[in-house]
Amino acid sequence: MQSIIMKTSKEAVQSAAKEFLHFVNRGVSPFHVVEECRRRLLEAGFVELKEMEKWDIKPSSKYFVTRNFSSVIAFVVGGRYLPGNGFSMVGAHTDSPCLRVKPRSKRTKQGCLQVGVECYGGGIWNTWFDRDLTIAGRVMVKKEDKLVQRLVHVPRPLLRIPHLAIHLQRDVNDSFGPNKENHLVPILATAVQEELETGNTSSGDATNSSNTAEKHHPALVKILCSELGVDPEALLDFELCLADTLPAALGGVYEEFIFSPRLDNLHSCYCALQGLIESCLGDSLNKDPNIRMVTLYDNEEVGSESAQGAQSNLTELILSRLAASSSNPTAFQQAAPLSFMISADMAHAVHPNYQEKHEENHRPFFHKGPVIKFNSNQRYATTAVTAAVVREVASRVGVPLQDVMVRNDSPCGTTIGPILAARLGVPVVDIGAPQLSMHSIREMCCTSSVLQSTTLFKAFFELFPHLRSSLVVD
Ligand code: ZN
Repeated sequence: MQSIIMKTSKEAVQSAAKEFLHFVNRGVSPFHVVEECRRRLLEAGFVELKEMEKWDIKPSSKYFVTRNFSSVIAFVVGGRYLPGNGFSMVGAHTDSPCLRVKPRSKRTKQGCLQVGVECYGGGIWNTWFDRDLTIAGRVMVKKEDKLVQRLVHVPRPLLRIPHLAIHLQRDVNDSFGPNKENHLVPILATAVQEELETGNTSSGDATNSSNTAEKHHPALVKILCSELGVDPEALLDFELCLADTLPAALGGVYEEFIFSPRLDNLHSCYCALQGLIESCLGDSLNKDPNIRMVTLYDNEEVGSESAQGAQSNLTELILSRLAASSSNPTAFQQAAPLSFMISADMAHAVHPNYQEKHEENHRPFFHKGPVIKFNSNQRYATTAVTAAVVREVASRVGVPLQDVMVRNDSPCGTTIGPILAARLGVPVVDIGAPQLSMHSIREMCCTSSVLQSTTLFKAFFELFPHLRSSLVVD
């Protein structure tokens, strides 16, 4: 196997993969992903900026800004940066398909206290059955006369969506299609146990409830309040994701796999962030004429159209702000063609049991490197120019690459790549690590992909400005 796995020690591969496990285990909701990125950025010496404030940006300095606390943009200014120079960017998304607690979640059926949930994104919902689920997200809390955002993550299994026994649905192995409204409602408790514990029984639904505490079962409100250390009356609104409590782990007989939730797309978020942070450790930054940037957006799984999504004005506002110059009014326009974005999102590895689903010459394998995604119908933004640039970067640091294209008779996913290419007029390459089980509650990739992607992104930040100056396309 001609791959980086041979040129680097297994130890380095495993230690990169293990560090990723910490990241994904903490990233239980987009808000927690941003919180974890924030923690790592502050630790690496980045300074937090606010969109609402005036910025004083200095060369060779590191900054980040969040929006909605679910998207984050981190950037490092090259020592030789001047307005009008390019942006070297890697973009990914912080959200994953999941179930989310409805604003009025209280339901009671057959003596079971249940929690109404909404489907977010295109999950493989039958994988959410028989999992030990908990809740994580953000809660708005009233504190004296202030409305305060707080993050919450209950670290124990609270909820369960049980399968119906096979005896009652003999065809379950032929065709299991749960109804998303009726069959995906998790159980929180039984009414009997609740009466034993509290002396009261919560029952009915939330049709006529007026305050937040009444819209949900008291047991759910209580656990949220005890995690947050607030009274039920202080609870205003929330965005709570359901999450599997089983932590991500290394797997396979040689521990060459990662079994994990949310690989799509926390794998790319982690590698992009890590690549950026590591790229600042050498002396290349002082000579860099560009701004290095990682852009991690919420809401990709539902089309990116939100104030914090890839379709928002977030990126454009930040880039134009960084390129602003009183002596050069067209600096931002000049910067776009000098810039480049790697749109990083996971790719489908060939599935040994469904190999016919993959185009016969485009079958990505585990351990053989990040995958460049091509689609001339512009579901992916890769062009010959952008693919060539990333191949050149990869070859200089010994990272193998693969190519993928879907069959003509197959549907094709898409990414933030085409959106940002169109909005910013920046050349984009779509790339991703190979994985299986995409959008399942528990996905799978290979350990080597973490070090490969991180190495590639780090090298991109270090090498792109020089490569750009050697590019002859017009
Ligand atoms: Zn994705």
